[in-house]
Amino acid sequence: CGIVGYIGYREAYPIVIKGLKRLEYRGYDSAGVMIYDGEAVKLCKTKGKVVDLEERASKEITTNGTIGIGHTRWATHGVPNDVNSHPHLSNSGDLVIIHNGIIENYAPLKVELIKRGYVFHSDTDTEVLVNLIEEVQKNENIKLGKAVQIALNQVVGAYAIAVFDKKNPDEIVAARLGSPLAIGIGEGEYFIASDASPFIEYTSNAVYLEDGEMANIRLHKKMKVRKIQDDSLVDPYIQELQM
Ligand code: GLU
Repeated sequence: CGIVGYIGYREAYPIVIKGLKRLEYRGYDSAGVMIYDGEAVKLCKTKGKVVDLEERASKEITTNGTIGIGHTRWATHGVPNDVNSHPHLSNSGDLVIIHNGIIENYAPLKVELIKRGYVFHSDTDTEVLVNLIEEVQKNENIKLGKAVQIALNQVVGAYAIAVFDKKNPDEIVAARLGSPLAIGIGEGEYFIASDASPFIEYTSNAVYLEDGEMANIRLHKKMKVRKIQDDSLVDPYIQELQM
C-alpha cells in the first residue's frame, strides 16, 4: 500500500501515476487517483493494478491540473473493489482523503455520524475518517488543518493520510502515526509519498514526518509541522537525499 501527492506547477497526473508505480513493491489490491482541475475534483479508482487505473483514467481524467493525490490500497476494512478503493470523498464532496493504515474505532464513530445524517458508500474505515473531519470542520467552522487535527485526536489506530479540501485548494494536509510518510520540498512545489522514491528525481530535500506529526503543505508557503496531540510546532529536519 502507498500514498502519493503533488501540489505545485507541474501536471500532477503523470507524477502521481509514476509515483504509484514506484510504490507497487509495497503490495496492494486497488489503486486510485484524484486530480483537482482548478474547479472540480476528478476522481478515478479501480480494483486491480496501477496499469488498470491508467487505462481507466485515460478516459476519465482529462485534466492537466497541478494538484493531485494517489493511493494503492491493501484492504483491511471492506473487500477489494472499486467503491472501497481510495481516494474517498466526504458527503459534501469537498474533502478528499487517501489513507494507509487502520482506524480501529471506526465503528462507533460511524454510528454517531449516521445519526447526524451522514451516508456511507463504502465499507472502509477511511470513509468514516473523512466524514469525521468534515463534521468537525462544519461544527467549528475551521480550516482543514485544524479539523484534521481535532478528528485525529478522536481516532485510535494507525495512519498515513493526505487530505485535500476543494474549498481551500492551495493546500494538502498530511499526517502520520505508525505508517511512513515523506515530504519532498521543491521550489514552488511539494511532494508527499510513503517513501522518497516517487519524488527523488524532482528534489533532494525531504522531511520524514515522525509518528504523531502532521504537516500543513501550502503552495508558496513554508510547510508547517506540528504535533497532532498538543498542537506544538516542530522544526522539521530537512534531509538531503542521495540521488
Ligand atoms: N484501512 C483502509 C482500507 O481498508 C486503508 C488500507 C490501506 O492501508 O491501504 O481501505
